[in-house]
Amino acid sequence: MINDHDLQLNIKHVKQKIAEAASRAGRNPDEILLVGVTKTVDVETMQRSYDFGITHFGENRVQEYIRKSDIIKRDCFWHIIGRLQTNKVKYLDQRISLIHSLDRISLAEALQARGQKIDYVFPVLVQVNVSGESTKAGIESENLKDFLLSLSKMGNISVKGLMTIAPYTEEPGDVRHIFKKLKKLSVDMARERVENISMEVLSMGMSGDYTIAVEEGSTIVRIGSALYGERVY
Ligand SMILES: *Cc1c(COP(=O)(O)O)cnc(C)c1O
Repeated sequence: MINDHDLQLNIKHVKQKIAEAASRAGRNPDEILLVGVTKTVDVETMQRSYDFGITHFGENRVQEYIRKSDIIKRDCFWHIIGRLQTNKVKYLDQRISLIHSLDRISLAEALQARGQKIDYVFPVLVQVNVSGESTKAGIESENLKDFLLSLSKMGNISVKGLMTIAPYTEEPGDVRHIFKKLKKLSVDMARERVENISMEVLSMGMSGDYTIAVEEGSTIVRIGSALYGERVY
């Protein structure tokens, strides 16, 4: 488990890197939300990181979210960031600030039904498979507009923007290219002015590539290991 000193140092370091990248791109660092990715991180560590300034947490398993949110003694914000199984949607509640990984119509329908049942409008991002790798989750770029049109009719889902996961590569130029493409997609989709669809949020950038993501317009970075240390599964 990471000690207070290292945790504080990591948070400070990541925030500073974000600020530097923002300033290189002529952006205001306050536009960028830092979400601490806390899969496998224990609740006690999460509480400490909250006290050091990380108030948004990202989980990729619904069970882990439920377990932790029930016991954590902080007033934090919750994000669901990983592949979301349709049969887990029934456990989602009003404490969810943002779902980053809406990637198929069956999941949208499940969220719409759940939202109706609990009288909640789920804020969501559409996950896009920008690289087109067959192994990656997400809507293909060419199908994005039609997907958004279907979502616009669902009153218990509110699309706030787009999310992507860049492929793992040693080549920073490849990653930048992916982030540029997502930014362009969001600008193009915003121009379509689809009812009930906003393109304000761009969730891109993880521990290995968040500075590039910020330079390319990210508004949410999802950071796990750079804050909490390497994960132990
Ligand atoms: C695990 C995870 C992250 C954080 O990854 P790190 O490399 O540890 O920063 C971000 N986004 C998603 C979707 C993840 O599953």
